[in-house]
Amino acid sequence: MKSIDDITAALHGYDPQALSVSQVNEFLTQLVQPVSGDGSQDVFLFDALGRVLATDVISPINVPAHNNSAMDGFAFDASQLQEGQALTLCVVGTALAGKAWQGKVNAGECLKIMTGAILPDNLDTVVPQELTQIQNAHDVTRIAIPANLLKAGDNRRLAGEDLMQGQPALKAGQHLTPAALGLLASLGLPDVRVHRRLRVAYFSTGDEVMSLGEAPREGAVYDSNRYTVFGLLKRLGCEVIDMGVVRDDPALLEAAFAKAAHDADAIITSGGVSVGEADFTKTMMKKLGDVAFWKIAMRPGRPMAVGRIGKSVLFGLPGNPVAVMVTFLAFVRPALLRMMGSTAQPTPMLRAKCLEPLRKKAGRTEYQRGFVSNAADGTLQVRITGNQGSGVLSSMVQGNGLIVLHHTQGNVALGDEVDVMMFDGVI
Ligand code: AMP
Ligand code: MG
Repeated sequence: MKSIDDITAALHGYDPQALSVSQVNEFLTQLVQPVSGDGSQDVFLFDALGRVLATDVISPINVPAHNNSAMDGFAFDASQLQEGQALTLCVVGTALAGKAWQGKVNAGECLKIMTGAILPDNLDTVVPQELTQIQNAHDVTRIAIPANLLKAGDNRRLAGEDLMQGQPALKAGQHLTPAALGLLASLGLPDVRVHRRLRVAYFSTGDEVMSLGEAPREGAVYDSNRYTVFGLLKRLGCEVIDMGVVRDDPALLEAAFAKAAHDADAIITSGGVSVGEADFTKTMMKKLGDVAFWKIAMRPGRPMAVGRIGKSVLFGLPGNPVAVMVTFLAFVRPALLRMMGSTAQPTPMLRAKCLEPLRKKAGRTEYQRGFVSNAADGTLQVRITGNQGSGVLSSMVQGNGLIVLHHTQGNVALGDEVDVMMFDGVI
């Protein structure tokens, strides 16, 4: 395990007083490793949503299992089609979905077939019912297929075209989405092996922070950070360990950090890491762990502490509620995903036309809360959601994404395109 000093020594241009966002992420990819190797479990599909696959899933069967029809219509052998000529075939039976039709279809014949019904071996093409003319005469039904409508293989689903027996259907590290659950079910698998949930402990610090239920006192604020962090972690599928608000008292802080480090893979705190904090949070982090204290060239979210306490990874986030969410999205979330063994790639950013000019200083990354919508012409546009103060949570509630103004970027003029990191469904 590399020490914090080892990792920072290898960071090009490392300056703890002015770290760039990309340097923080580079640091974190060195610091955190998948922890999920030390435990996996079999869970039923209904319990597997949002979990991370621990092993590749090899298809035990072909899906679909047989060549079958993609339409309600008539199955026939397309070698009988001749350029520019209609084809008339005699209907010899009906194949229904769910049971194989017994019999033989000869040249000049076809089989009425329903969607999903097995296609007999010597038939390769299905003409949809609505493209045929049906003629009934003397107890015999014939269909006429107009010229030049079809080619061989039309409206046929091939055995194994979705999932091939013996091939990996899903890879280890796959996040189990609704589509992935359906796919596993289509293989007939009732359960699936997933990594154990990542355990994350979190607490808020600061004597000015009140727990819910406490009578309001002057100069104090209710603890919102624990609730945002709780929600962010739950959405990621973590096992959460809520440790409350911890008073600014060395004994209480030491006990909280020790318990968190014992119980959890990662610890998230909020507050107490800014410069000139007259509190014991930083002192205790230094005493108990291997921790770097940074000023990051970003807004909001400048101060942050990152390192290890025991085997747990520590994220000491700033206190301001928007800064907590932004640093979580920018740094903590990708790091936790890596720890969970997930191979999920970051959601691509959108480009949207900015509906107002934005002031931006080059040399830091800024995250403004934005609301993206479609303009009348269908293109994407974004407006900022009011007051952008780092304590103004309503800007996060009203927004659906973060406008990311990159490190080297300067002012944005009205109508300029900007990058937006969408967060609907994530936060
Ligand atoms: P700090 O990073 O400790 O200097 O905190 C900055 C500001 O964030 C404080 O002045 C508080 O107003 C606010 N704050 C800190 N912790 C919390 C919390 N848990 N919930 C809501 N606001 C907080
Ligand atoms: Mg404080």
